[in-house]
Amino acid sequence: MVKHLLLDLDGTLYPGSARILAENTRRMICFIAELLCVSFEEARTLRANRKPQFGTTLEWLQAEHGLDGPDKDEKAWHYMRYVHPEEELLEVAFDPHIRPFLQSLHLPMTVLTNAPAFHAERILRFLQIDDLFLGIWDVVRSGFKGKPHRNAYSGALSLSGYTIEETLFADDYAQYVQGYMDSGGRAVLVNDDQSEWEKAPSAPHIDSIYEIGRFL
Ligand SMILES: [Mg+2]
Repeated sequence: MVKHLLLDLDGTLYPGSARILAENTRRMICFIAELLCVSFEEARTLRANRKPQFGTTLEWLQAEHGLDGPDKDEKAWHYMRYVHPEEELLEVAFDPHIRPFLQSLHLPMTVLTNAPAFHAERILRFLQIDDLFLGIWDVVRSGFKGKPHRNAYSGALSLSGYTIEETLFADDYAQYVQGYMDSGGRAVLVNDDQSEWEKAPSAPHIDSIYEIGRFL
């Protein structure tokens, strides 16, 4: 029986079609282009080729492009502030239905995000749901090794106080859903893109978070 929800934020608690997701990706590619002194197109291709070997773009840059070393944290913070400027709020639409919907589930909920907490707090406040969660487990608390690394899931669960058996995890990335399932948990892929379903064929999928009741 599900007693707790572990929820991704971006593309899960608001639609994957939101402009902020495309803009965050564009800012990541701009950052890579500046870092590596290559064109935007070259940076996009490099990221497309290399990122799948890692959990996140940041993890790839740390492993292969110098965002590591003694000042690793400072470099990571520079990257995260670049990708998540305050203006990013203009790129997401307010959804008046999400708060009453989440409340109607009557379950404790925790956020697990590969973004920094300052971004998560900003978006949750904007959506007026920041008070509905037990806490936020972000990529910084995961030591910059977020989903699909097991320590990200186990860290979020320890924060919540619930076990993996009591928890249902929902995320819009097949790679992260698969990682949770590989840890022995139940998970749902929240994505209306069939090409994402094919990356985790054994995972149940729903088009939108509003359908999660089917699994409770
Ligand atoms: Mg997401």
